[in-house]
Amino acid sequence: MREERIVRGYRHRNSYTGIIALLLLIIFVLCGIIVYMASNYKKAVTANVDISSTQMVSEYTEEQKRLIEEANQWYLRLVNPDNPLPENYSVEVSEIKPKYSNYVGLKFDSRAVDALNSMCEAAEKDGVSLLVISGYRSIQKQTELFNNKVNNLIRDGYNEADAIAAAATVVARPGTSEHNLGLAVDFNTDQEWFENTKEFKWLSENAANYGFILRYPKDKYSITKITYEPWHYRYVGVEHAKEMKRLDMCLEEYIEYLKKGGSK
Ligand SMILES: [Zn+2]
Repeated sequence: MREERIVRGYRHRNSYTGIIALLLLIIFVLCGIIVYMASNYKKAVTANVDISSTQMVSEYTEEQKRLIEEANQWYLRLVNPDNPLPENYSVEVSEIKPKYSNYVGLKFDSRAVDALNSMCEAAEKDGVSLLVISGYRSIQKQTELFNNKVNNLIRDGYNEADAIAAAATVVARPGTSEHNLGLAVDFNTDQEWFENTKEFKWLSENAANYGFILRYPKDKYSITKITYEPWHYRYVGVEHAKEMKRLDMCLEEYIEYLKKGGSK
């Protein structure tokens, strides 16, 4: 009896080990299958993404590709509080014709200064006098203006953090002003009544023909985050100035439009 029990016990143990081994084998095989399927799925997904993105690029027409590249051109460079210029940004600038400058030495991007002078000349022929009161301003100069404003506010009793925040509402932070880029000018006055002048009317009708746009229109404040400035004009080139006017888009909207190959 005793011997038989021992033998039976041995047999039991033997079959348990067999079942456990079988279960382990099944688990092992299942894991293998899962890992294999997962890696294949990942490959398939990556391949799909690759295929669809190549398809997208090759589906663009030549014209769409050209528009996408245009968005990176110097004359369409976007400068605003979200897209500041690097601290060491430099650009070649030339003097604006003295007869169209409020004071001697006002400068503009050398690549676009002729367009600016031509526009002022054409206005003059139409009996309209455009006088540039602000042109290119270096980032160093902008820093100086900004710091002066901050210091004045601190003298008026603001703490430093509040002074910086308050200064930024009236003077652009260094690198965030289009004047630092060299492609923006202010005409005649920085007061809103400028919109009631014949100069403003002339600019509204003709600026695009010389490659200039009204950069901060009244109805685009929600996008530009800059209050209406009827005196501030930006050079973007004739083609784009005309297109922006036709599409009624501000620069932020227009650049997004170009990046999509010219679709809204
Ligand atoms: Zn300005």
